[in-house]
Amino acid sequence: MYTTTSGVTSNLIHHVISSAKVPTSAMANSSGILGDGSKAIKIHHLIKAPENSPESISFRESWDATKPVTVYKTPENLPDGTPCTAATVILRTKGCAWWWKSGCTFCGYFNDVRDDVSIRDMFSQWESAKESTNNFEGCSMVKVYTSGTFFEDRENPPEWQECVLRETAEMGLHLVVEAQAQMCTPEKIKWVAERHPGCTVAIGLEAYDDKVLRFHVNKGFTTKQWHRAVEMLRENELRVKTYLIFKPPFMSEGDALNHTTKWISQVSKYSDEVSVNPMNIQKNTVVDRLFRNGEYRPPWLWSLVEMVKRSYEEISSSQCRIIIHPTAGGKIRGAHNCGSCDDDVVAAIERFSVSADIGEFEGLGCQCEEHWKAELGIDQTLPLPLGTGAFRRGNPIDLVRAP
Ligand code: SF4
Ligand SMILES: [Zn+2]
Repeated sequence: MYTTTSGVTSNLIHHVISSAKVPTSAMANSSGILGDGSKAIKIHHLIKAPENSPESISFRESWDATKPVTVYKTPENLPDGTPCTAATVILRTKGCAWWWKSGCTFCGYFNDVRDDVSIRDMFSQWESAKESTNNFEGCSMVKVYTSGTFFEDRENPPEWQECVLRETAEMGLHLVVEAQAQMCTPEKIKWVAERHPGCTVAIGLEAYDDKVLRFHVNKGFTTKQWHRAVEMLRENELRVKTYLIFKPPFMSEGDALNHTTKWISQVSKYSDEVSVNPMNIQKNTVVDRLFRNGEYRPPWLWSLVEMVKRSYEEISSSQCRIIIHPTAGGKIRGAHNCGSCDDDVVAAIERFSVSADIGEFEGLGCQCEEHWKAELGIDQTLPLPLGTGAFRRGNPIDLVRAP
């Protein structure tokens, strides 16, 4: 099934991207997804170029560059499993070097960045994060997210990186930063490890499959580059966190469930933590464009529960921890079910991420499970790889009657 899906995918991307330039009025009269026969154009010109229009840039630059995007606290676990409180600091930076060139299909981080952030702004954002949390009072962990690679010098000034690494180490906080695999060089990883020994580097691998990385995610690196980065982190005794995306675009619900379950098993052997991010639709991205055209629907919450159940035995006997945070869970633009069971299922998934106890899913149930199972069955019988799925909210009879 999967070979078929991937084989079909590159053609579909071509058609979808081609069709995306058709005006909405024309789309209504055409087959939409098949395009208008004109030459396909690059994602870059559809998504990134409009986002770099003077209006868009001036809107982004209206944000205060001296303050971080947000700072919040959540329950977490330290590397040894001790429960703790973690502070998350999301900074307003120049953004991701990969986005400047191209960018991942689902990533809306660029909505929070601005081109003119100075070194002084970066220091001032860090001071503001410390002030607002009283120097991370009550926290044992801090996640410093820069909408790109923390230790990439073109994105973030090295002096600022050094300050964050050293200060968090001096405060005894476990630090988590994010990186792209190809930005991990032996010199840089050694440099990071000298300043904050034992910190965690999270890499958004998204999929353990080079075709998916290329055609569904547009990730900008390969699984081979990820393996090389993991080796560097291990050699420097840093911790490895791996992000996977659940249901990238151009993939059905059934394929997403099967593939992500397999990827968890494969990448957990090389990771201290695997964090599965169910797709949520971020503004002005390729996925947003598909979603607004009715060509993509975010995953079911039931699929996430099923994925955990299928992976549980193997993961619980390994050293690796699995975490799932359904951003916008229960909402139409995030992983969702029928609307009446969503809160309970999201809460169980969130609890599982902290407790790692499969018992969190006991007693969950809803009539929409049948709808979900039917969709999985169809996905695995018919070659429909786009992941559109039917609308899940409202009276099932009305949904069947809907055009
Ligand atoms: S590498 Fe990360 S920050 Fe950069 S475009 Fe992809 S998801 Fe976004
Ligand atoms: Zn339900």
